[in-house]
Amino acid sequence: MKDIPFTIASFENFLKEKKLMASKCNRCNALWLPPRPICIECNSDELEWVELNGKGKLVAFTVIGVGPIPMIEAGYDRDNPYCAGIVEVEEGPRISAQIMGVDVAHPENIKIGTNLTADFVERGSWHFVEELAKERKTYLAFRV
Ligand SMILES: [Zn+2]
Repeated sequence: MKDIPFTIASFENFLKEKKLMASKCNRCNALWLPPRPICIECNSDELEWVELNGKGKLVAFTVIGVGPIPMIEAGYDRDNPYCAGIVEVEEGPRISAQIMGVDVAHPENIKIGTNLTADFVERGSWHFVEELAKERKTYLAFRV
């Protein structure tokens, strides 16, 4: 795993394998999620991949009716909104992700501090490469 670069592409490849991976600084132990190739705490480039346990808590959220293209293609709109949130994982870092299994019709019922588990959602994604080709991509989500 040493040779895998600390990029978003690598992070997304791990999501396909249903792994939530962060980069950990071997000098100061800081944990970066999504991964960074250089520690911004101590400027070290001695990082390693670590797998997180996928548990976290909701620290902020919003309910979105008009989302980006992948979410519109996944069927989300004003009549079928989705929840996007910031999750603090058990190991410490925070990451944004879709929050599944919450009452999006009644956002007042969605509670900060709710325990969540990582989920890996596969959906189509448009890429403007050569001609418009559709491919499947795995997105990080968290579920109640
Ligand atoms: Zn560091």
